[in-house]
Amino acid sequence: MSKRQLAMVMDLNKCIGCQTCTVACKTQWTNRNGREYMYWNNVETYPGTGYPKNWMELGGGFDAAGDLQAGVVPNIEADYGVPWDYNHDELQFGEQLKPNVDPTWGPNWDEDEGTGNFPSDNYFFYIPRICNHCTNPGCLSACPRDAIFKRDQDGVVLVDLDRCQGYRYCIAGCPYKKIYFNPKISKSEKCILCFPRVEKGLPPACAQQCVGRIRFVGFLDDEEGQVYKLVHKYKVALPLRSDYGTQPNVYYVPPTEAPPKFDAEGRVIEGSNRVPIEELEKLFGKEVHQAMKTLREEKEKRKKTGESELMDILIAYQHSEMFRLDQDYYQSIAKKQGLSLAPIDNRYMQGKNTENKYKFKVVEYE
Ligand code: SF4
Ligand code: SF4
Repeated sequence: MSKRQLAMVMDLNKCIGCQTCTVACKTQWTNRNGREYMYWNNVETYPGTGYPKNWMELGGGFDAAGDLQAGVVPNIEADYGVPWDYNHDELQFGEQLKPNVDPTWGPNWDEDEGTGNFPSDNYFFYIPRICNHCTNPGCLSACPRDAIFKRDQDGVVLVDLDRCQGYRYCIAGCPYKKIYFNPKISKSEKCILCFPRVEKGLPPACAQQCVGRIRFVGFLDDEEGQVYKLVHKYKVALPLRSDYGTQPNVYYVPPTEAPPKFDAEGRVIEGSNRVPIEELEKLFGKEVHQAMKTLREEKEKRKKTGESELMDILIAYQHSEMFRLDQDYYQSIAKKQGLSLAPIDNRYMQGKNTENKYKFKVVEYE
């Protein structure tokens, strides 16, 4: 276990599925060098097949006794989907826009389909997903090479590319399937929580660019921070599939704002909710009942009294206030290690197989 833990909270009531986060991550990290098919951040429609296809049924994680469970390594073409291009060059000659291959599968293949019957009870919502930087990572436990490590200073989970031999046990061991095989270098790679940005006091690119302002980032032990308050004080932010036993550090505020159902005549069924509570329980555990109750009570309180710290946090008036990062903290660690500047993760940075020592050119968004 690390000394401190950085965490992210995502408010699912505010995600509009715009994929800006996905693009921010892709352009920063995965649009090149064998990572093209990877989405370290993806936003999937629930209910749906997810990314990779049916990831919740692919094993990994731990059982109740703490034993690592067998898991499957998804197939790149069939389960993730190989990226394709379009015939842009031919458009000026009167051709119609079409893919340059015949695609059979890809991320968000079933985007916005959801389930139920329109217009009476159909529904879906979005779940953005990144690596959970778990406290008990299945990927790390599964690796026979001791190539995956968790940083003491913030709990970020990284792959030591020198030690990784591309066995892919980590992919089987991660129940979220958030670690990927890079066929070009024959190594596993994953979300690094934008640690070179974080060490400069900047949030990860996905959070910085989030149009819906759904993402809070901060340390779990920072009692004044929104992350602490949402997770520990109000207990409205819950981990996804905590039954997998990896103790994830990405938390979700469940969707409470679904519209009611309609009857056969198109009238509103008072008190109904399109999102079945059983589905939310499957995703977020039994704690979701109390979380939903607290969210609704606080919303009512805010309406009646104008006061609610919880609602003020969730509204997120100032985007910059959603991030409680601490450059000085990282600089003090760098200093102790005799380094003048962050990034301070030597083990990750100095891998012979990384592209070069200065691969992390931090993009500072306005
Ligand atoms: S989500 Fe998966 S890849 Fe990320 S730390 Fe947890 S087990 Fe490892
Ligand atoms: S940028 Fe924000 S609102 Fe848009 S899909 Fe990503 S998490 Fe959702």
